[in-house]
Parts: sequence; C-alpha cells; structure tokens
Amino acid sequence: MNTKPVYITSPLLPPLEEFVPYLEAIWQNKILTNGGPFHQQLEQELARYLGVEHLCLFTNGTLALLTALQALRITGEVITTPYSFVATSHSLLWNGLTPVFVDIDPHSCNIDASKIEQAITPQTTAILPVHCYGNPCDVDKIQRIADLYGLKVIYDAAHAFGVRKEGNSILNYGDLSILSFHATKAFNTIEGGAIICRDAKMKKRIDYLKNFGFADETTIVATGINGKMNEVQAAFGLLQLKHIDSALAERARIQAHYHQLLAEIDGIELLTIPAGVEWNYSYLPVMVTDAYPVSRDALYEHLREQNIIARRYFYPLITSFPMYRNLASADETMLPVAQRMSSRVLCLPVFPGLALEVVESIVAMIRSLAHQHQKTDLPLVS
Ligand SMILES: *Cc1c(COP(=O)(O)O)cnc(C)c1O
Repeated sequence: MNTKPVYITSPLLPPLEEFVPYLEAIWQNKILTNGGPFHQQLEQELARYLGVEHLCLFTNGTLALLTALQALRITGEVITTPYSFVATSHSLLWNGLTPVFVDIDPHSCNIDASKIEQAITPQTTAILPVHCYGNPCDVDKIQRIADLYGLKVIYDAAHAFGVRKEGNSILNYGDLSILSFHATKAFNTIEGGAIICRDAKMKKRIDYLKNFGFADETTIVATGINGKMNEVQAAFGLLQLKHIDSALAERARIQAHYHQLLAEIDGIELLTIPAGVEWNYSYLPVMVTDAYPVSRDALYEHLREQNIIARRYFYPLITSFPMYRNLASADETMLPVAQRMSSRVLCLPVFPGLALEVVESIVAMIRSLAHQHQKTDLPLVS
C-alpha cells in the first residue's frame, strides 16, 4: 500500500529558486496588478506558444467563461454538454442564460454534433461545447451548424492547453475559446485563465470587460467585472512556460507506460485520440466496460483503499444538480450516452513526477481486483 496518497494530479511547481528573481522584480517596481509588465509579457508569450492571434488573461477560467458570454452579448438559450465540470453551465446561469443539454458522443465524450440541430429553437443564440479531456470536438461540423443558424460558438477549452489539430491550435476554432490555468490543469498560474480571440477589436472589448469597463481614467464603456490576472500569477505563468514542454513530454511518457500495461486488462478501454491531433496527455480517462468483472465504483473504492485517489470525471452529470434538474433538457433518459459514460469512466493519476513504479502498482491493483472477481465461462462441474 502506498503510504502517501497519490492524487489524480499534482501541480507543476518549478524550482523555488527560479521564482525568486520574478518576485524581486515585482518588489522593485511595486506593480502588483492592473495589466503590469508580467501580465503583458505572459499574454504575448502564451499567444506565441499556443499559436493564437490574441489572448486575454484572467484571474481564473470561470471569470473568463462568464466574460466570453458577455463579450459576445449572448442571450436566451445556449446548447451545451452535461458531461463537464460544473463551471461550464454555471457560467450560463450566472449570465441569466438557459442551458440546453445535448447528449455526448461515446467515443470522444464531447457533445454529439449530430444532435445539436434538433435542440435549436428561436431562442438559441450560441453553442458552448467542451473539448473534454483535451480531445477536440467535431469543430467543423459545429461550425457548419453555427453558420447555418447564425449562432456563436464558445469553446470551453479548459482541458485543451497546447492541443493542435492538423498543426493548428484547437483554440483557433469558434468565436472564442477559454482556458483554465487552475493548479490542477496541465499549465497553471495557481489560479488563472484566458480568453482566446481572433481580432484586436474583440481583445479590446474583453480587456475593458475584465477591468470594470474602463476605457480610460474617466470613461466606462461596459458593465465590466474585475477579472484581471495579477503580477504574481503572471510571473508564475512565465516561469511555468519555461518548463511546460518537458512537463507535457513527461505526461506523454507516463501515459504510454499506462497504455501498454492497461491494454492487457480485459474490460478497461482507453480514450482514442483521432489521427492528426497533437494531444496534451492531461487526463487519463479509462472506461470500465461490462467485460471487467466489477463496476467502475467498485474499482474506484478499491484504489482509494490503497491510497490511490482516482476521480470520476464527470460524475454526477451536471443535469443532476438541483439548479439544472428541472430543465426540460436535463431529462436523463434523453442523455443515455452521458449517463453511461458518467457511470463508467474513471480518471487515473497522471502528472509530471509520477514514478513509473507507481503507475505499475496502480495497474497491478486494477488487474488483481479483476482476478479476485474473475467471471468464468467454464461450466461448473458438480
Ligand atoms: C477547470 C475547469 C473550468 C474552470 O476553471 P477555473 O480556472 O477553475 O475557474 C471550467 N471548465 C472546465 C471544463 C474545467 O475543467
């Protein structure tokens, strides 16, 4: 048994001494926030690193999501997925919008694009899909529907830092995308987030919105909020950026080891990333199918008893929470795939610094539980 708990993730923390010079610079110039030099530098470096035109930093991903909906003046109903972190649909309720839930695709766990059209009403103004686990949505099909019906598309790309499709950043699809830099994400600024947009005019509007609506000292042009990332967060992000390539490469190595070992266990299925996608290896969702002798929850408990804290992302579905469950589209009989995945998927620990021996011991636990409960096809001999 592992003496210390192994959590699903552990934050990327560069060596402390590398952070000290950044803090010294902040102490020297006494600029702590309000779009200071580190904030500006991180916006530029991240845009370059990610391969996007414009990026607006926020104090967290949820404020970025809330502001993205304001920036596009979204009203009425928004089509979204029940299979996500609750912040996705909370951002709609906070803006007085009505979420309309559509079922997901069993292979990607992303919104099923073929079911979007039937959910459109005269009140629909936007689609809010999630690149779940960083696996790209069917962006081309979603854009075709959006163009046909005149809808905006905002991607919750909280999981999709660095992901590319045919060499192009996944953040370049839709009208806006948002990122989260929360401590649990692949790239973190402790708390943090961003909106990615494609023109300077939109960037300006978002920058006003995240700073109370100030256009200059005496002019307020919008009902803005305070969403500005501070200088300590931005400095942490700049340092983090220096280490991100090796951290992502290490995630890939750890996942490759898991994949090789898990492939030998019947009933444990892995997410398939489509060809042409450069993934970020940020999550390791496994599907516990009927061919595995016990349930996902039994496996989850078995690992927990041995100090392996895997997580059931995403269980429960957003549609089961009290503020959503009375919506017509929250009827879970209409969301059979989301329901099934929610009861079958388990995300295993993966983070830079996770030892391969720990990976091996986790897989051994999954294998031994199956052996203990082996289903046998052999007839019982009396
Ligand atoms: C993490 C996350 C968010 C929220 O980001 P915060 O930075 O924690 O506010 C939103 N959507 C999804 C899908 C997430 O995983």
